[in-house]
Amino acid sequence: MPVIAEVHDYQDELTAIRRDIHAHPELAFAERRTADLVATKLAEFDCEVHCGLAGTGVVGTIRHGNSPAAIGLRADMDALPIQELNDFVHRSTDDGKMHACGHDGHTTMLLGAARYLAATGNFDGAVHLIFQPAEEGGGGGRVMVEQGLFDKFPCDAVFAIHNKPGIAVGHIAAKPGPLLAASDRWDIHIKGHGTHAAHPHLGIDPFVVGAEIVLALQTIASRSVDPLDSAVISIGFMKGGSAYNVIPDTLHIGGTARSFCPEVQDLIERRIGQIARGVAALHGAVAEADYRRSYPPTINHPAETEFAAEVAAEICSAERVIRDIAPSMGGEDFSFMLNARRGAMLWLGNGPGEGDCFLHNARYDFNDAALPIGVSFFVRLAERFLEKAAR
Ligand SMILES: [Zn+2]
Ligand SMILES: [Zn+2]
Repeated sequence: MPVIAEVHDYQDELTAIRRDIHAHPELAFAERRTADLVATKLAEFDCEVHCGLAGTGVVGTIRHGNSPAAIGLRADMDALPIQELNDFVHRSTDDGKMHACGHDGHTTMLLGAARYLAATGNFDGAVHLIFQPAEEGGGGGRVMVEQGLFDKFPCDAVFAIHNKPGIAVGHIAAKPGPLLAASDRWDIHIKGHGTHAAHPHLGIDPFVVGAEIVLALQTIASRSVDPLDSAVISIGFMKGGSAYNVIPDTLHIGGTARSFCPEVQDLIERRIGQIARGVAALHGAVAEADYRRSYPPTINHPAETEFAAEVAAEICSAERVIRDIAPSMGGEDFSFMLNARRGAMLWLGNGPGEGDCFLHNARYDFNDAALPIGVSFFVRLAERFLEKAAR
């Protein structure tokens, strides 16, 4: 069965909503306009609406029949601090903010599913539509779980889709097990001894120490981690100095680390500290390292992934459900929901990407042709899940 016929009729309305959200991007925990729009639409569709979880989070609930079974469907609402470079009509109206990860599409697809499910009610149980804030680094998913998301809205399982450029529209990828990496942040503060740049022998140059640390950090993935495990350590910034002729006292280096298993995470944390302190000591400087675990890895539960893949095949046809896709070193705070409940995240084909670009690119734009596919998938997922629960 392809896209649901009635959902096809939503295309114009959904495209308008998606472009409206795209034009009005909001950053982590500040998604007030978006949350208002979501709450208003959910109320229009006759869903129960709950606002305020994690600040700007919104949960819509649709109940039918008497079954205690319940499914959670999740979308994220936040944008990124990127200056959009597109010049189409629905480009961002707010300088420095942009929907470059397609969360405008995720929010719209879940609204489309809410509309259909509330209007048709072909299920027995509850569907909780979870609109979370702050996926892009703020951990809105974690905050929602900590504030009792699944106590207030008990779900037997929770599912999400993320758009994926590079996969053709009409395809969905379903991968059991690790899908996205743990995403951690680290800082190294180096304290040398500032001096005149013409007389380096009178000081301890934190740049030279920092440069050696940066190179040595690359040996963590190549020499310390088992070659059969995955790890990334990337430097995001180096901050220090302010003049051409001054060697400063300090240098601050920061970046991200990605991995899939706790042992590798522990190893990376330990090695970053050892390398920073050891290289600094070699030069008579001092370094301190700070490692913060941000998002755990996103691990799909096998049975729920299989179930979701079967539903995807109903919408896209079996040959368009990609089952052998490699995981990504990207991170996702849907991981906090998957650590609390069974479920899966699937990737929704978004075509080549506007201007052939990937997520987080200043020219990215969610592909509206994927909207009815995502809506149909969410709808059937809820219906089939609750049908299965009743058996
Ligand atoms: Zn993103
Ligand atoms: Zn995203």
